[in-house]
Amino acid sequence: MRKKFVAGNWKMNPNYPEALELLKYLNINVPKDHSNVDILICPPFIYLSEAKNIFTRPDIYLGAQNASAYTNGAYTGEISSTMLKSLGIDYAIIGHSERRQYFGESEEVLAKKIKLCLQENITPIFCVGETLEQRNANEQFEIVKKQISGALYDLSIEQIKKIIIAYEPVWAIGTGVNATPQQAQEMHTFIRNMIMNKYDDVVSQNMIILYGGSVKKDNAYELFSMPDIDGGLIGGASLKGEEFVSIIATAMNIVNK
Ligand code: PEP
Repeated sequence: MRKKFVAGNWKMNPNYPEALELLKYLNINVPKDHSNVDILICPPFIYLSEAKNIFTRPDIYLGAQNASAYTNGAYTGEISSTMLKSLGIDYAIIGHSERRQYFGESEEVLAKKIKLCLQENITPIFCVGETLEQRNANEQFEIVKKQISGALYDLSIEQIKKIIIAYEPVWAIGTGVNATPQQAQEMHTFIRNMIMNKYDDVVSQNMIILYGGSVKKDNAYELFSMPDIDGGLIGGASLKGEEFVSIIATAMNIVNK
């Protein structure tokens, strides 16, 4: 039985005082009895260490929004998975569409990042998803297949077990237009089947597959209730403490039913 998983991706937001306020809010207000829902917050790198201090609760995990494809050395501006691990960070978002689109990250680079995260025992949350143009051309399955096979298929069965996949259609990210639960479920089934065909049924059934793209408290229930949607990667709504807590409560409600 898979747990639900609710992750917040703050992206390049907010400023320092606002970040402190939000972290403190979450530390107090995230429900404590969420044993069937894992909760992850991914603030910008520079707030991770402060977040570690503010979170007095080991039940709220912290993640990075990226990790370098290099281990250490002369790579100005980069943050390595080794550095993240040394700070006690357990998760990293890898291959977010904004990284692909604005920073030119290819499947090859993403595969390296994933391997380095795994070496450090950091769980990569690997993001995949098609653009609107690709969906309109009915290419979404082909695109997601290429993204998954390109970055993950070199992994051993032991390594793939540690991966979380987030399906985030680019047209739904930050637009207010979420995929319908049926569209998301269809893609999640497709992804689960890919993992089953490449690895095995047990790995596929245990894999956490998140949906991301305009998840809010008002649509979380219908999305998270779908059998292959194990929770969400949440951008905009994770910056509003009350809304994010309400999304967590929704996930708890589904599990507890
Ligand atoms: C995201 O940043 O991964 C995301 C899904 O953003 P939003 O929830 O704002 O669409």
